[in-house]
Formats: sequence, structure tokens, C-alpha cells
Amino acid sequence: MIIDCHGHYTTAPKALQAYRDAQIAALKDPAQPPYDGKIDISDDQIRESLEGAQLKLQRERGTDVTIFSPRASAMAHHIGDVRTSLNWSRRCNDLIHRVCTLYPSNFVGVCQLPQSPGVPPSNSIEELERCVNELGFIGCNLNPDPSGGHWTAPPLIDKYWYPIYEKMVELDVPAMVHVSSSCNPVFHATGAHYINADTTAFMQFIQGDLFKDFPTLRFIIPHGGGAVPFHWGRYRGLAQDMKRPVLEEHLLKNVFFDTCVYHLPGIELLLKVIPVDNILFGSEMVGAVRGIDPRTGQYYDDTKKYVDTLPLSEGDRYKLFEGNARRVYPRIAKRLSK
Ligand SMILES: [Zn+2]
Repeated sequence: MIIDCHGHYTTAPKALQAYRDAQIAALKDPAQPPYDGKIDISDDQIRESLEGAQLKLQRERGTDVTIFSPRASAMAHHIGDVRTSLNWSRRCNDLIHRVCTLYPSNFVGVCQLPQSPGVPPSNSIEELERCVNELGFIGCNLNPDPSGGHWTAPPLIDKYWYPIYEKMVELDVPAMVHVSSSCNPVFHATGAHYINADTTAFMQFIQGDLFKDFPTLRFIIPHGGGAVPFHWGRYRGLAQDMKRPVLEEHLLKNVFFDTCVYHLPGIELLLKVIPVDNILFGSEMVGAVRGIDPRTGQYYDDTKKYVDTLPLSEGDRYKLFEGNARRVYPRIAKRLSK
């Protein structure tokens, strides 16, 4: 079985965006209560939105199941206030639940959290619990920067975040560290803000002792871990200078990377530097980069093609495509057996 740990519902029916547009329009008049209108989407519309996209690509590329979450760039936690974020997150998560119910062997849900700048992460606990306990989700996307590119929240090792970590540990669900759109024109969303955030999260983890406090807490740093694998020597050296434990001991029982690196040399480097036990197959399809590489004739985000090129042992191949995802997202076992 091939589990793709990183997929977003980027092709949701238009009614979802219409809801969001109405929600944002209503913010212009603060006297109005927060907008929370109905979203009218039929099962057929959901099927249609997936059959020509994610499902088609699963079939063509030979993957089996995608760990699926709402469109990350649309989380936009910086818009409106905490009520805006809660209504929007619930709508997006409910739609993911419908996808997973219609296609239980193709998609397993991961939730968006109703974060908001300046609002403690403990505020997201209720929605996390609802998604895991009631909707059968197996993880969450945690935004380290709800401000959308201004980095106003404390680092992920700060006790500020501990209440949501306590709940993640209790529910035995990991978080993918995933920022959303950038409202700072300095940072292109998927080209700079995402990769910055991946790199930033890893450095924050080096600086703290988070995993002493939470030995079973697990994070996936997407997009191949940002700059981390390429600069592994820098991070090892910094850890040494800062009298931190060696990275394998300090972080690699808790921090994992995906394979959303869109060229073969990048995947080769990832596998050479990071232990295979810490790498989960992911493609982020249909997502950040949608085109075909004219040099290979393949989709940039068909990451399975790169992995298939590597001379992996059967055991390592199993870990990367399936075993590690089962270990990091233990709740997936129950979903897949249904
Ligand atoms: Zn993503």
C-alpha cells in the first residue's frame, strides 16, 4: 500500500469559496454578526471535483490513499477574528469528512485548526477533538504563524503551545507544521513562506526541549523539511555550539519529513541525509506546483517517480511508502480497515 501523507482539497466545489467570500465581505461591517451561511454542495459535485483530479492522479501514479486536509493556503488564519476562523475551519473540515465518507479507501482526514493571531492555541482544542473523535480524523495541520507572514506568535517550543500539544498526545495524533497564505508581500506563499516555515520550525525545535516534555509528540515538517536536509551540517553544528544533544537523539524520534521535493536530486539528498525512518511519502497533489517538467516530461509533483528511481531495499521502501505513516499516524489503521 502507498500512503501519500500530504494532500489538500484544492479542487473543492465553488460553493466553498463563495461561502468564504461572503464571510470576508461581511467583515466590512463590524456591526453584523459573523457570517455563517449554508454551503450547498451535493455528493455528485464532490465526486466530480475529485474524479478528474486527486482520484485520477492516485490511479495514474499508483498511490492508494491520501491523508487529506483542507486547502492550506486558504486557511488564512489572519482573516477576521477567532469566530471567522472557527466557522471557516468547521466548514472546511466537514467537507473533508464528506470526501472521506464518500471515498473511505482513498482519503483519510486531517483537520484545519481555527487559529487566529493572538489567540492561544488552546482555543483550537475543541475543534481538534471534534474532528478526531466525531469525524475520524487522524491528525491536524498546525500553523506556526497565524499572522500570515509577520511571525507574531511565540516559537513552537514556547509553553504557549503546550495545551494543544497535550491534546495531540492524549488523542495520539500528529501535526503537520503548515503555514497558510502570506499577507506579507515579501514572502511568496508556496515559494518562500512555506519553506521558511519548515526551516524555522526545525530550528525552533533544536533550540528547545519540547520533546523532553512531550516524548510522544510528533510533527511532520512538509516540503522535504524546507532547507533542513540541504543544510544538515549547519544544523548539526549549531546544535553542537549551543550544547544541544545530537539531532538524532534530540529531534528524530519526534520530527518527520515528507517527500514533497519536486526533483530527483532533492529526493536523493533527502534520503542520503535523513534516516529513512523519518521520511514519509508525500506529494502535496494537487497543490503547490502543478505543471510538467519539460526536462523529464513528468509532473513535478509526481514524487513517486523520483522515489521509484532510488535503489531502496524492500524494507526501506515499505517504511517510506507505508510503515512510517502508520507509525506517525497510528489512527490510520482503524480507518483503513473499514
Ligand atoms: Zn501542503
